[in-house]
Amino acid sequence: ADAVAAMLERLEADRIKFIRLQFSDLQGQPKNVAIPAIQAEKALTDGISFDGSSIEGFARIEESDMVLKPDISTYTILPWRKGESNVARFICDVYRPNGKPFEGDPRYVLKKVCAEAAEMGYTFNTGPELEFFLFKMIDGRPSTEFQDVGGYFDLAPTDLAENVRRDIVLALTDMGFEIEASHHEVAESQHEIDFKYADALKTADNVVTFKFATKTIALINGLHATFMAKPIFGINGSGMHTNCSLFKDGKNAFYDPEAPLQLSETALNFIGGVLKHVRGITRIANPTINSYKRLVPGYEAPVYISWSASNRTALCRVPAPRGNSTRVELRSPDPTCNPYLTFAAILAAGMDGVKNGIAPPPSADRNIFHLSDEERKAAGIDTLPGTLMESNAALLGDELLCSTLGSHVVENLDRIAMMEWDAFRTMIHPWEVEQYLSKF
Ligand code: ADP
Ligand code: GLU
Ligand code: MG
Ligand code: MG
Repeated sequence: ADAVAAMLERLEADRIKFIRLQFSDLQGQPKNVAIPAIQAEKALTDGISFDGSSIEGFARIEESDMVLKPDISTYTILPWRKGESNVARFICDVYRPNGKPFEGDPRYVLKKVCAEAAEMGYTFNTGPELEFFLFKMIDGRPSTEFQDVGGYFDLAPTDLAENVRRDIVLALTDMGFEIEASHHEVAESQHEIDFKYADALKTADNVVTFKFATKTIALINGLHATFMAKPIFGINGSGMHTNCSLFKDGKNAFYDPEAPLQLSETALNFIGGVLKHVRGITRIANPTINSYKRLVPGYEAPVYISWSASNRTALCRVPAPRGNSTRVELRSPDPTCNPYLTFAAILAAGMDGVKNGIAPPPSADRNIFHLSDEERKAAGIDTLPGTLMESNAALLGDELLCSTLGSHVVENLDRIAMMEWDAFRTMIHPWEVEQYLSKF
């Protein structure tokens, strides 16, 4: 009650006139309902009811009543609407009318897995690196026309996006982000902005906020920001490398100054668990048909299931920093993923490794892309799923991941995958016409 009273005072002091109650659907798309400030007390104490039946992966018509309860710690003012009166945003948890958490709420799934790890004394930290493209708007519609032709770490004037990137960084900083770096990425019109890692729940909230803030600021500048995994054939796609670590008693449990590579047994077992379940994780971390066009050789995206402390071509890379920065970077996720479910799946897999002492395979310290198929086979290096159908089947066959996500989530993910795959496989693509029209 004290927290609610303090929040109400803060809303008053910040001249808040509207409040956006935000949550995510199963695909990680942010949804929100706006309420006038006068409803704040009711929202913060009882929650606000809404109809969940039109939300992807939520409820059936007959059980569609849901309640949104704001998480007070997620309070932020939307910087691009600042003025005389302000708009605030809370991220909410979704409940059923009977007061039970809704099992299709991605935030609930992640909280559940984090609580299990917390029982063993672990905090799961994640630091994602989101890449995105800035494309021109043409006649008011997003296009795939480059806004610039810069490359990795380029400076203006090649990097026309400098100003836009600065505006994005300023808006995010206003919203409480600690930005670590921002730079032009490898591909034309491609960018990356890195923010400081935090516990997985806070970071998942941050990823959702990051994406819609970036899109909003880009649009204000007349550009379209896209997090699509592979918008253009023949150049790099966009990844969401996810740096992971477990902390225990305030210390990084992946760091062991005495061990080979200074990596603890916990770190090695975490890698072992992640690699064991990574084919099923792929359904979550790479959830679109298009995601699989990124996971091909030649564009700095991973293909082979491997780990290494020295080479960037591995799926799981251990970056050089040690001490509290000791971390495992999973390079497969792309920014179309639902960050809540992705972090939940990675943590469940990693904890399977830690609890059951799963040793990782020998590390692959050469460039795996230069090995022949036979050499890879001899080294026991398997590949990531090549399509959404393949990863969907891998998820359905992974008992640990299915029980982590719960049947509501798994059934809906399966339904969405089947629906998209059917729509895609029955379409006639330009490639087919080019290959077959004159030949046959
Ligand atoms: P790369 O080496 O792939 O270029 P970056 O330096 O761009 O990596 O990104 C590093 C990311 O890792 C940042 O988001 C940073 O906050 C995060 N990070 C640093 N330490 C940890 C840690 N202990 N646990 C999780 N993430 C971390
Ligand atoms: N864009 C690359 C990818 O698809 C990653 C480039 C990088 O290492 O930053 O994962
Ligand atoms: Mg990058
Ligand atoms: Mg990286």
